[in-house]
Order: sequence, then C-alpha cells, then structure tokens
Amino acid sequence: MSMEKTEALVIRLADWSESSKVVTLYSRDFGKVAAVAKGAKRLKSAFEAALDLLTIVNIVFIQKSGDSLDILTEAKLQKRFVVKSGVLESLYAGYYLAELLDSLTELNDPHLELYTEALRSLERFSGTMPLELAILRWELVILEEIGQLPMLDGCAECGRPVAPDVWFDFSVGQGGLICPTCHPEADHARPLQPGTLAVLNQLLHGQESTWQCLVVSPTQHRELRRIMTPTICHVLGKRPKMFGYLKFLNPFAI
Ligand SMILES: [Zn+2]
Repeated sequence: MSMEKTEALVIRLADWSESSKVVTLYSRDFGKVAAVAKGAKRLKSAFEAALDLLTIVNIVFIQKSGDSLDILTEAKLQKRFVVKSGVLESLYAGYYLAELLDSLTELNDPHLELYTEALRSLERFSGTMPLELAILRWELVILEEIGQLPMLDGCAECGRPVAPDVWFDFSVGQGGLICPTCHPEADHARPLQPGTLAVLNQLLHGQESTWQCLVVSPTQHRELRRIMTPTICHVLGKRPKMFGYLKFLNPFAI
C-alpha cells in the first residue's frame, strides 16, 4: 500500500454506494487506475466538481495490491474537455476515446505516449481539425501502443512493400494489407487506393502540421472506415458503444 500522486484523465464513473463512486482514470505515471472515491456524491467532498468524464485532474491515491480497488483521496480539477461549439459529435468523440482507453488498456500499465496522445486528441476534437481524421489518428495510435496495429506498409503475408502502382487489399483476419499475389481472387477483393494508404501513414508517421493539408475524398473516407471500423471491433471483441452515436464511423452508412 503506497500513497501516489499523478495527473490523470477521468474515463469512467460508476456509483459504488449511496455516497461513493468508483472512478476509472488513465494516468500519466501509472496507466489505468480504478479507485473508490469515498463521499464523491456528497455536495461537499474532497473532490469538489473534479470528477466528471473527460476532466484532467491532479490526483492523490492509495495504491492497493492485488485486485483491490485503489482509494482516491484527492482530485483537483486541472482542465475540462471543451465541446466544439454546436458539434455534439465532438463530445461523442471524447466518450469514444475514453471507451477505447478503458477497454484496451490494463490496470497499472503506464504508457506515457498514450496518455499524451489522449490529451492531444481531446484538444483536436475541440479544434479545427476534421473530426473523422482526429478520431482516426487516435485509433491508429492506441492500436500501435497496445501492439495491435495492422500492417500498413506492406503485405501481412509475404512482406512485399507497398508500391504506388500496385493496389493492395486489406484483411482484418490476416492482420493488414494483402498484396495481389497473396490475395489473387481479385473479383471479390476491393483494393485500396494508394491515396487512402497515404492518409493512414501520414496520420501515423507524419508531422501534425502536414495533417492540416490532408484532403480526404468521400471515397477515401469510406475506405479508411472500411479498414478501421472492423479492426477496432476485432481488437475490442465487440462493437464499441459509441459507434452508435458516431454514424460517420460506419463504412456502410457513409
Ligand atoms: Zn503478399
């Protein structure tokens, strides 16, 4: 049992008793933390109004060993998530980010890159970047951080690198791109445009300043979702709850 301090993002809240809550946070130094916040439902508590979804808080908690929930002793509000004016989907994007963080990470497994990216993504959801691209960047980074990113620079079967004159298909089951030699039944395949792959690789490896220049056509958007939506469902083992609210992430609805 030890007393710890860190900065964290609130990703889930649930009632625990008449006066307490269980709070799930994704923290900078400890990864995911699940803690009881005693008295959090009282009007005057040690947490004031800090414990809302998507708030960034400075916390003090007692880390328990084994499967026991930690005890949150203090949470001070640092920053609230700002919903883009008039765009409810920006809030849903924030909830989706929290859903993936909660579902795809383990307790006490710190990933500083993932924490930093989560905070940057929330800023992008409130900003001027097209929401579908900001969400896609978040999905790519979390998949990469947990080691579940599909192969996007070559054939997942034979390793043949992507070339501008050859259109690869994408297979969730085979773990990424599949070249025409490994996937010869071209009648059924729907190869990806090289430009669509370029968008993915740019979002993953390019400089943020260059993303502002990315222009994504409706066809490319459909192709991007045809890759990412089934990949997320596959890795999660189910359809994310927030897909029902973010209709533009459904490749069959756009
Ligand atoms: Zn191949």
